[in-house]
Amino acid sequence: MADITGFLKIKRKEAGNRPLHERICDFSEVEQVLNSEDRMLQASRCMDCGIPFCHWSCPVDNLIPEWNDLLYKGDWRGAYVRLNATNNFPEFTGRICPASCEHACVLNINQEPVTIRENEVAIVEKAFAEGYIKPCPPKKRTDKKVAVIGSGPAGMAAADLLNKAGHNVTLFEKDEKAGGLLRFGIPDFKLSKATIDRRLDLMVKEGLTINTGVDIGKDISTRELTDKYDAICIAIGSGHPRGLQVEGSEFEGIHFAMDFLAGQNRVNAGLISAADNPINAEGKKVLVIGGGDTGSDCVGTSIRQKALSVTQIEILPKPHLVRNTDNPWPYFAKVLKTSTSHEEGCERLWNISTLRFVGDGKITRGAEVEEVSWEYIDGKYVMKPVPGTRRIIETDLVLFALGFVHPILEGLIMESGIELDNRKNIRVSNSMSTNIPKIFAAGDSVSGASLVVNAIASGRRAAKEIDRYLRNT
Ligand SMILES: Cc1cc2nc3c(=O)[nH]c(=O)nc-3n(C[C@H](O)[C@H](O)[C@H](O)COP(=O)(O)OP(=O)(O)OC[C@H]3O[C@@H](n4cnc5c(N)ncnc54)[C@H](O)[C@@H]3O)c2cc1C
Ligand code: SF4
Repeated sequence: MADITGFLKIKRKEAGNRPLHERICDFSEVEQVLNSEDRMLQASRCMDCGIPFCHWSCPVDNLIPEWNDLLYKGDWRGAYVRLNATNNFPEFTGRICPASCEHACVLNINQEPVTIRENEVAIVEKAFAEGYIKPCPPKKRTDKKVAVIGSGPAGMAAADLLNKAGHNVTLFEKDEKAGGLLRFGIPDFKLSKATIDRRLDLMVKEGLTINTGVDIGKDISTRELTDKYDAICIAIGSGHPRGLQVEGSEFEGIHFAMDFLAGQNRVNAGLISAADNPINAEGKKVLVIGGGDTGSDCVGTSIRQKALSVTQIEILPKPHLVRNTDNPWPYFAKVLKTSTSHEEGCERLWNISTLRFVGDGKITRGAEVEEVSWEYIDGKYVMKPVPGTRRIIETDLVLFALGFVHPILEGLIMESGIELDNRKNIRVSNSMSTNIPKIFAAGDSVSGASLVVNAIASGRRAAKEIDRYLRNT
């Protein structure tokens, strides 16, 4: 174990964020880095519990107490080896994972949890900096060919493991660059794209082939792929956004969050010029509809684009500040989350339903909204309008951040005859295989919109099943 009394002596210390006035002027990462000495002391707080609930709650089964112990002892290389045993991309999860592990940390019962997520990113960044991470191509190649469709975290994880297992892997991506939502959804201020490029470069040096700008189902049919490859892994994400069916929702000035975020990420990457960015919040009164993480990313991006004001509304009630009795430790705490973007200046409103947009083909006046209340009736929550609360929120740019319903069905899914479940996600068996021989699936396209860590876990599972299948054929 780390220091047996570490948790009694050392207080939680986070790396903290760049000063607000500085960070809102650029798109660089907000979170700072703690010095190595303090980082090792933070690891000393790990109690190496008999039952490591942190490990239980981590979707990729990270061996948290083991690498915390090695980190505390200054064995950064050893810590990296243990971390890499279960997670292909700790540099992503260490930056943007909601860290269910910390919610489940035993210290979190009555103290502050270990800084597990930050320890994770510190270990992998040290491993890159010290050159512990080098291209490591497989010693022997098999004669099997695998196509992975979609280069988000699920596709990347599947491709990485299958390549390391010696198979000949091609990763297909319809966008101009690989990375999926890591690249075009998540803003640079949460995850710098250099981090994705560094990992992709490594994977290419290890023998992976990446074909971008290829839309499978349109440019190449699934039939052509099944003829050419021994196995296929579909990891196309959950790209169909949820809309709002109210009067005026088709007006000019109303957009899906992803169109807004992807535009700014393309500008930051130099793929388009700022002038060609189709949606710009500068000087606008922005209304973000949807109180989740995507909405928060729209807030931070709008602020950096110099919006006049930013309001974020949510139809559900404001979450509690502390755990409710029906949401005990070690489960993920459903409490109010204030992101760095929220701190940067945004009005947040809860229990607000959007009734219509007011304008004339273009949003001019704003959105008519109404307060709602929620009552628990016959085992479910029922929403009721609060009389006399209708009003207009002035806005000239509305962003729908209402989540995603299922994968995009046009193209690959319709063309291939892949079977879907009742939510229109790809149906897979316990072995991650679809109804079509040779074709497996992973990530958000199977689970519905989720998290990077869950996509990595799913991609890893699919890779193991595909490897097993290939070795038996
Ligand atoms: C704005 C935003 C912010 C988020 N922030 C976080 C966060 O902070 N932390 C977190 O854990 N999660 C976050 N998420 C969720 C997370 O990004 C996703 O759960 C995760 O990326 C899903 O991974 P995936 O590989 O299944 O799919 P994706 O990342 O969606 O990748 C799918 C890829 O498949 C490609 N593709 C689709 N169809 C085809 C085709 N026919 N041919 C070729 N390529 C195709 C797509 O272009 C895309 O690149 C966020 C999501 C969004 C939208
Ligand atoms: S991947 Fe997420 S849940 Fe797992 S250890 Fe890292 S921060 Fe915690």
